[in-house]
Amino acid sequence: MTQTRELLNLLIPDLAGKQGQSLTISSPIDGQVLANLRVDSVPEVQQKIGQAVQAFEKWRRVPAPRRGELVRRFGEALRANKEPLAQLVTLECGKIIEEGRGEVQEMIDICDFAVGLSRQLYGLTIVSERPDHVMQENWHPLGPVGIISAFNFPVAVWSWNAALALVCGDSCLWKPSEKTPLTALACQHLFEQVCRDFPDAPEHLNQIILGTAEQGNALVEDARVALISATGSTRMGRAVGPKVAARFGRALLELGGNNAIIVTESADLGVAIPSILFGAVGTAGQRCTSTRRVIVHRSLADKVFDTLKQAYLQIGATKVGNPLEAGTLVGPLIDGHAYEHMQAALDRIRGAAVEVVGGQRLLESTGGHYVHPALVRLSENTPLIDEETFAPLTYAIPFDTLEEAMAIHNSVPQGLSSAIMTTDVRDAEFFKRFSDCGIANVNIGTSGAEIGGAFGGEKETGGGRESGSDAWKAYMRRQTSTTYYGRSRPALAQGITFDV
Ligand code: NAD
Repeated sequence: MTQTRELLNLLIPDLAGKQGQSLTISSPIDGQVLANLRVDSVPEVQQKIGQAVQAFEKWRRVPAPRRGELVRRFGEALRANKEPLAQLVTLECGKIIEEGRGEVQEMIDICDFAVGLSRQLYGLTIVSERPDHVMQENWHPLGPVGIISAFNFPVAVWSWNAALALVCGDSCLWKPSEKTPLTALACQHLFEQVCRDFPDAPEHLNQIILGTAEQGNALVEDARVALISATGSTRMGRAVGPKVAARFGRALLELGGNNAIIVTESADLGVAIPSILFGAVGTAGQRCTSTRRVIVHRSLADKVFDTLKQAYLQIGATKVGNPLEAGTLVGPLIDGHAYEHMQAALDRIRGAAVEVVGGQRLLESTGGHYVHPALVRLSENTPLIDEETFAPLTYAIPFDTLEEAMAIHNSVPQGLSSAIMTTDVRDAEFFKRFSDCGIANVNIGTSGAEIGGAFGGEKETGGGRESGSDAWKAYMRRQTSTTYYGRSRPALAQGITFDV
């Protein structure tokens, strides 16, 4: 494993120029300080927005397939740097190295997707009711895109946005989480290197804004930023959404989840149990799509809980630890606040719980906040679990009928990811129709989406869609255009006559 300094020098050779005293970045693995950074002042953010506007004016004129070529080259640079970048992701946000690699792979995948997309930004031709007229729907570049990202996917979420925005002809301003700005600086360095050999790329095509909510807010309030794509907590979305709406800007919100897996009477537990474990315990429960609730048919409740309990005890005893080491399945929480939130949620639920497995702090001497993943057995649903706890804390709730399971499932305010474990096609189809989430999986857990589909959720998850499918449309402006190609006086729509 490359040493920390070596890694930082390799990936962020200009780090010395970013040093300052306003933001201390430490690794959740052991608390070691990785860097002290200077944040952008609000006037500096505003200056960067001005530069993004200028970059947009140039970039929008470059043909889309050529824009795709830049993204293709960036994807190649990511491929060449996958391993060190994955190590930095792990060092800075604490996810296990296997998932760090997966995160960089996701960036590569979305670049590939965007390259193809750069030749497929299709509009429509629509028949006109008037003679010798043709209607078209065209898509045009939108403007500078502000990308505000969360700590738990420190680079992938930016790439979902940026790869699409760039082929769509937009410039980008990226405000990474204040907890994980180093991975952002590493990506920016790679991107700038690629741009240097690409004369069509204007200066300031993608810029980093270092800072906290204050700097994020400077983006949010600035009418020059055409789209704010913000990923993070529902609390953040509540602050950001109305401000963007007040200036008639466009917002793409990717907020918190409270995801459930329904285990029906017919479920194949050989499929269900590993899916629940990866969803609940993987990434130390710090995915927006992590499994927070397991809604299990009463006939299987004992068996499912006992099987999960054994797995949790084994994971707690042998698989929690340094995420850079092979064999570790659960790394640390991001920081002490996350640990305190988890403890507070456990304290709230204890009175209502039938049984609580795990939850205690582990490996305290390392300086990191490691926890024994927690599984809480409940006798019935309760609003105490309506809030998202961003930690490995999962509740098991029994049900008798699928209608009841669906009602429990949909009772929370969030609507991101959902899953059903069943071998009955009728139950599967019922579930897909009535799950109120943006993602509804069958015999697949709630987490680990592929980039090809549109990603996002409903209700308090914010309603945004990014990544695959037609999510690119959020980064472009739709224009309806009617052309008359006749020689006589043009007819008016709806048969209106207006003779002078
Ligand atoms: P957070 O809300 O604390 O911060 C996210 C980002 O928003 C950071 O960059 C932060 O600086 C910025 N921010 C916070 N308040 C702001 C404000 N008022 N104005 C402008 N910017 C502001 O979230 P976090 O702790 O970094 O991440 C965890 C949360 O993110 C969880 O709720 C998780 O479910 C969610 N998340 C959602 C998705 C998704 O796609 N739906 C993906 C990843 C994470």
